[in-house]
Amino acid sequence: MSERSNSQIKLAARPVGLPKPSDWEFATSVARDPDAGEVLVKVLYLSLDPAMRGWMNEGRSYIAPVKIGDEMRAGGIGVVVASADPALSPGDHVYGTLDVQEYATRKAASLTKVDPKAAPLPVYLNVLGMPGMTAYFGLFDVGRPKPGETVVVSGAAGAVGMTVGQLAKIHGCRVVGIAGGPDKCRFVTDELGFDAAIDYKAVELGPALRDECPKGIDVYFDNVGGDTLDACLARLSLHARVVICGAISQYNATSAIKGPSNYLSLLVNRASMQGMVVFDYAARYAEAVAAMSGWIAEGKLKSREDIVSGGVAAFPETLLKLFKGENFGKLVLQVADE
Ligand code: NAP
Repeated sequence: MSERSNSQIKLAARPVGLPKPSDWEFATSVARDPDAGEVLVKVLYLSLDPAMRGWMNEGRSYIAPVKIGDEMRAGGIGVVVASADPALSPGDHVYGTLDVQEYATRKAASLTKVDPKAAPLPVYLNVLGMPGMTAYFGLFDVGRPKPGETVVVSGAAGAVGMTVGQLAKIHGCRVVGIAGGPDKCRFVTDELGFDAAIDYKAVELGPALRDECPKGIDVYFDNVGGDTLDACLARLSLHARVVICGAISQYNATSAIKGPSNYLSLLVNRASMQGMVVFDYAARYAEAVAAMSGWIAEGKLKSREDIVSGGVAAFPETLLKLFKGENFGKLVLQVADE
């Protein structure tokens, strides 16, 4: 087999605050040919996720940290270019943990085949992928909204948030999104059909939530933590559910993480606050994909990706867009042409 040069991005140091260029190492290797049971995948698209910041830290979490000197972990979509497993053939498209590199040699059994005719490939990193699964199970299993209830979601124009809000609308809820800037707010109301949007960078959250949630918040789906979580806790209704999905406002903190001071609202309102990790629902992903594919086909559920080109070399700079609020929809890095 011909030798394939493989550009990679490795973790060089554990960042303090926002990742900086010296936290990364650019490397070139030769892609390894597949052994029995393996395939060689050419990476096409990589999912850039806020969680990557957590994977760069040492310490106990829901998944082991990336080791210094290892390729940066990333989910991605690619095309099989060589196969030593009968389950996959060259030309098949797959999803898996492919990492920030141009080629990945992986066990065929660790990959999921995706159909580019059923949906554009980047959608498998968004609504039909990990963020979509997070939205579906976080909202329906943990948030448990009832039709007519008020659902508030932060990070509303991002990957998880845009799907949470649309699913809550499909379910018959009143949906209020919280997002940064007028363009994102217009997007969630005008294009995604949310009932209202609050620009947290322009207005004070407390009074805005009072105006938009006159009966209180029944489900708060938290993607950002910090002051936003605190403001939403202050507006909970009786028996409200708070879904702790993420806390991006705290991921680059260099001092103690800011916890909620309004937590006694949980007591007063007999409310609950529960964390969730999407991987716990892996056995049920097919259920979510079936439901959401149906809603996409009916035109009730939209997927929006923010696709950045530039290959693996553009990874360090592109990742920062998440923490600066510069992504619009799901942030995807294109590594090679389809
Ligand atoms: P995303 O929302 O597409 O992108 C991140 C967005 O966060 C930015 O566009 C920005 O939007 C907002 N943001 C950044 N810094 C902020 C700050 N300091 N304060 C408030 N908002 C800030 O990302 P995503 O992939 O959908 O992830 C959303 C959240 O879900 C993250 O916390 C992530 O870690 C979490 N998550 C959890 C699971 C799980 O299993 N628990 C799975 C997937 C994702 P604005 O411009 O609106 O500020």
